[in-house]
Amino acid sequence: MSYDVNNIFARILRQEIPCKKVFEDEKVLAFHDINPKAPLHILIIPKGDYTHFHDFHSRADAETVAHFYKKVTEIAEQFDLKESGYRVIANCGINGGQEVAHYHLHLLGGGKLGAMIGK
Ligand code: 5GP
Repeated sequence: MSYDVNNIFARILRQEIPCKKVFEDEKVLAFHDINPKAPLHILIIPKGDYTHFHDFHSRADAETVAHFYKKVTEIAEQFDLKESGYRVIANCGINGGQEVAHYHLHLLGGGKLGAMIGK
């Protein structure tokens, strides 16, 4: 799958589409999901042109990967999720149910979450 520069998250990164931003630095952007599946549902994306989880981990250098996940934990703490717990999900590719082809992690919390995989 080649990277589509006009995917929705690429357009959010270029500020062509607004988002409810919760964190940004030179490598990472995080914002609220437009259709939340939990009381708190944040999407966390690297700024590089990675299509999905597998692409990110195949091509990104170790510092970029480490930085990304450090920010995920910091954002979880920003929203007081460390003690209460939370879930992170990366849908990857067609069978993974990925809809937007720019790598993103779903950070879900703020209440008891349901079954891990719906039917
Ligand atoms: P995926 O199925 O690719 O893992 O998840 C894509 C997520 O992006 C979905 O949860 C969907 O609600 C969210 N989403 C789609 N379009 C937009 C948008 O324009 N803005 C925001 N904030 N989220 C979006």
